[in-house]
Amino acid sequence: MALFDLHDVSARYNGRVVLDNISLCIAEGERVALVGRSGAGKSTLLRLLYEQCAGTASLLPQEPGLVRTLSVFHNIYIGRLNRHSLWYNLANLIRPLNKEVDAVRAIARRMGIEEKLFEPVGQLSGGQQQRTAVARALYQASPILIGDEPVSAVDEHQARMVLENINENHTTVLIAMHDTTLAIAYTDRIIGLRDARIVLDRPTAGMTPVDLDDLYRT
Ligand code: ADP
Repeated sequence: MALFDLHDVSARYNGRVVLDNISLCIAEGERVALVGRSGAGKSTLLRLLYEQCAGTASLLPQEPGLVRTLSVFHNIYIGRLNRHSLWYNLANLIRPLNKEVDAVRAIARRMGIEEKLFEPVGQLSGGQQQRTAVARALYQASPILIGDEPVSAVDEHQARMVLENINENHTTVLIAMHDTTLAIAYTDRIIGLRDARIVLDRPTAGMTPVDLDDLYRT
């Protein structure tokens, strides 16, 4: 079943074309990486796709949108605010219930930030903040994850751990990534963008990073 279906879609900023007649179909269960040079149009395309499924997808934008003065616990808990009543959420913000702390702690542990659970996010490193944002998306437990460079601030070992968790927790995954080795390893389809157009759309099976070199040539 097609979850995303774009037909000849274009996008402009200030009259400049940044996506040029894009057509794209993505089925439920696919894991897709968008690759291409900075400015190729990946974020813009992800935003268009997110608009098609806003109610059922978790979005991990490049700017993680964390509340710096709130703790890791609270930032992750925010992923499920819409599941509870206002009063329940307020009670948890003031004095978190044990069962909510346990659920959030389990995800924080998987992201390697458990020991920071009650520290303000503003005091964390860039990589720890990025993992907090991923934890918030995992906690949301949506079937679809749309991520814009979700591992840009972490080392390779952590990147692999984050991508494994994303794949385990979401049925359909769309991520923009600059690391082509990781993109090939953790997705099953690569879409290459260059100068506002899709110039490559292939299964990752049998692919090597060299096959993507043309996307990055100046
Ligand atoms: P990528 O994610 O591949 O780096 P983007 O989708 O962010 O590409 O950007 C595509 C093009 O659109 C770039 O040339 C970028 O400068 C431009 N662009 C993106 N966002 C804006 C914006 N808010 N206003 C004007 N231009 C933008």
